[in-house]
Amino acid sequence: MTKAIKIGMAGFGNVGKGTYDVLQKNKDLIAQRSGADISVKRVVVRKPERVIPLVSEDVIVGHDWKDIINDPEIDVVVEVMGGIEPARSFIMEAINKGKHVVTANKALLAECGNEIFAAAQKAGVNVAFEAAVAGSIPIVKALREGLAANDIKWIAGIINGTCNFILSTMRDTGRAFDDVLAEAQKLGYAEADPTFDIEGIDTAHKIMLLSSIAFGVPVNMQKVHIEGISKLEAKDIKFAEELGYRIKLLGITKNQDYGVEVRVHPALVPNRRLLANVEGAMNAVVVKGDAAESSLYYGKGAGGEPTGSAVIADLVDIARTLNVDVSERPKMPTLRHSGEQLPWADFGDIVASYYMRIPVEDRPGVLAEITRIIADNNISIESLIQKESLDNKGTEVIMMTHSAKEAAVQKAIRTMQALSSVNGPIVLLRKEELV
Ligand code: NAP
Repeated sequence: MTKAIKIGMAGFGNVGKGTYDVLQKNKDLIAQRSGADISVKRVVVRKPERVIPLVSEDVIVGHDWKDIINDPEIDVVVEVMGGIEPARSFIMEAINKGKHVVTANKALLAECGNEIFAAAQKAGVNVAFEAAVAGSIPIVKALREGLAANDIKWIAGIINGTCNFILSTMRDTGRAFDDVLAEAQKLGYAEADPTFDIEGIDTAHKIMLLSSIAFGVPVNMQKVHIEGISKLEAKDIKFAEELGYRIKLLGITKNQDYGVEVRVHPALVPNRRLLANVEGAMNAVVVKGDAAESSLYYGKGAGGEPTGSAVIADLVDIARTLNVDVSERPKMPTLRHSGEQLPWADFGDIVASYYMRIPVEDRPGVLAEITRIIADNNISIESLIQKESLDNKGTEVIMMTHSAKEAAVQKAIRTMQALSSVNGPIVLLRKEELV
């Protein structure tokens, strides 16, 4: 017999409406697959008058999220408001009332996930968040189920469509960052205040969540090294291309001998890698497991219905287990805290290979000074080319290194930057071979 599951939805913007529309459109399919008739009973927003014409008459639309909490018929709440408050209070109160939670809110989980998951575990309810990372791509499920047999080595992802659109357009057109950002805002790919996206914070939230699932570390944004794309220059994208690389904003997490590293920065990716060819606003995540080796997940990282698809996947999972005793339910995508916790890596300990652009005076001996500093810091050079500066102020040395320790590279950069022959800021980018 099909059971009825009533949903209370807080938020009805892009994701809320997308979720509602897909639930309506594919009602029969979803009922067959979940064994449940999943319907939205209540929607809560700030301006109910905007939502009332968008939903059927039997949906109660209000502005007080406590109405959802206090409705005993509602088994599962969907939080798609975004932000920290009142989303946090809404979720915590729902958990305390024994309701399951589905959320798309990566910012909230990255900041308050430990508290939320501990409360959910105590209350015996699920907090599911497939939609919070990479929109439509079932990456949480892939890590939790499809790759359950694997000791995960690393994850690298293009998980912010705004940044990928900007970087793809800069490469295609040779235009400057600010110019392309303005176009992205006009096209609706970037927010009026784009800081969260372009400074890498959104990517950091998502990679932190993936790191937590893969390596069982508690969420801790203090441990994430974050560099965005706002300072990236078109000429570095061009030089990287000439060397056979594309620059992508990557969220990276690795389980290394020296600890778990979580970092976000623009990175040179060899253009023969599939990840380098993910263009426009698309998202993709590569996972390296010890048994499965590399697997790639590609799709739409945002948008109402694509993200709604992920919200409903979680609803279906919850529906399938709703009548099963808590102790018998399969583990939901909660963050793992049990067992021995892996140590965090210091950013200075990470090992990568590097791209450096060093603006220098065009005179004899300069190259020798630079290469001596590099050698003094135990860094080995993979290739070195000299470019004529476009503004005739000297020349630019483009150096690619073999694997080196971040701390040594930073020390070399400081020493080179102090040379009188270096006549501008040195650009440092990391290279990810992804093998
Ligand atoms: P949105 O379009 O701005 O919609 C937010 C909704 O929440 C609106 O209906 C708004 O109501 C409601 N809301 C906000 N504050 C509220 C409050 N204090 N009380 C009641 N209702 C409130 O946002 P969205 O793009 O759907 O994103 C929602 C969540 O999904 C965020 O956490 C976001 O990070 C995540 N997400 C979004 C996407 C995407 O493609 N957009 C993809 C993945 C994850 P009013 O309209 O009445 O103000």
